[in-house]
Amino acid sequence: MKCRICKKINLKKIISFGSFPVCHKYKNKTDKDRKFRLEIGICKKCDLVQLNKLFPVKELKPKYNWINYNEPEEHLDELVNKLKSLKNINKNSIIAGVSYKEISTLKRFNRAGFDKTWYLNMKKDLDISDPKSNLETIQEKISKFSKKNIVKIKKKKADILIARHILEHSYDTINFIKSLKKLIKKNGYLVFEVPDCKDSLNSRDYASIWEEHILYFTENTLKRLFLNMNFRILYFKKYEYSYENVLILIVKFDEKLEKKNITLKKTKINFNLTRLNKDKKKIKDLINKFKLNDYKICLFGTGHAACTFLNILKLHNLIDLVIDDDRNKQDLILPNSNLKIIDSTQINKMSKILIILGVNSESEKKIILKLKNKLKNKIKFFSIYNKSKYTFSKT
Ligand SMILES: [Zn+2]
Repeated sequence: MKCRICKKINLKKIISFGSFPVCHKYKNKTDKDRKFRLEIGICKKCDLVQLNKLFPVKELKPKYNWINYNEPEEHLDELVNKLKSLKNINKNSIIAGVSYKEISTLKRFNRAGFDKTWYLNMKKDLDISDPKSNLETIQEKISKFSKKNIVKIKKKKADILIARHILEHSYDTINFIKSLKKLIKKNGYLVFEVPDCKDSLNSRDYASIWEEHILYFTENTLKRLFLNMNFRILYFKKYEYSYENVLILIVKFDEKLEKKNITLKKTKINFNLTRLNKDKKKIKDLINKFKLNDYKICLFGTGHAACTFLNILKLHNLIDLVIDDDRNKQDLILPNSNLKIIDSTQINKMSKILIILGVNSESEKKIILKLKNKLKNKIKFFSIYNKSKYTFSKT
């Protein structure tokens, strides 16, 4: 199999998890799942973990207009301050973003007196006509930039172009980066933010695998990608978050860049089939013990991490109820299952309940507090995330 970066047949399979539908394809009663193989590998040369086979882009396109992406933003003020201090950047500089997702960063620039900001508009700049399209189509259109696209933005080439949480979604990463380079001035800066997968690969965090994430970066593999493309790394920072850290990289193209070989720290990966089978058995046995004691088993949260966790560990048959308070999801069926999504008021009817938390850490705290206060009955919590204190992996 070919590595998506070096394009050589260097990709070695790590593990195949099975075939699953796209996580955001919530179903109606008559809908059937369309399944694709979810499998990861690592490039022997680039050391970068990546999906071996990709889901078709048209399958990743959401069928609902309310599918959204949430990333932590607490570090953005600091990032914007850093960007403002870069050489030759002043209030006349043009600051741009690759998609609507950069609006929150660009607004911070506006508040600081930078008013020349823009982001690539799906319809006007990328000719994407279906408003339900999202990152999957944006990344594809950018990678396949036509001359027409470039001409459109020629007059507003950026001094800084920001691309948060899209690089790891790119199917054709090299052309994606090359296209972004065309959107900046000769001495412009590119800013990338990606999830740091070091801990999740090392700790075997099933919830961190996602069909929309093609690439699973670590500090080392991220830096190597840009150095090999003749980008000078001007700044690197890791921000620590409760579930997944983020990596920030600011780069500048330099044709004459001397490529110093950066030391290859091998990515530590603990995913393998033997361990997966052991994990499956351990979690199933644990849940079954509670079931024997009349506990109802509840999945709380139905985002991609929760869906993937259930898919990989094959837990659907053990789940009695699926809760999500997102009103859009009410009465829809969780992909790869027959489980209907209901709201959290249903929990009150239970006398004993085991809750599998599939939500981010902020929501986790709120939910536990609320349910513990409300329910005097027996309630037990587990989390799909390895970094949560309720993780299954410590059992
Ligand atoms: Zn490679």
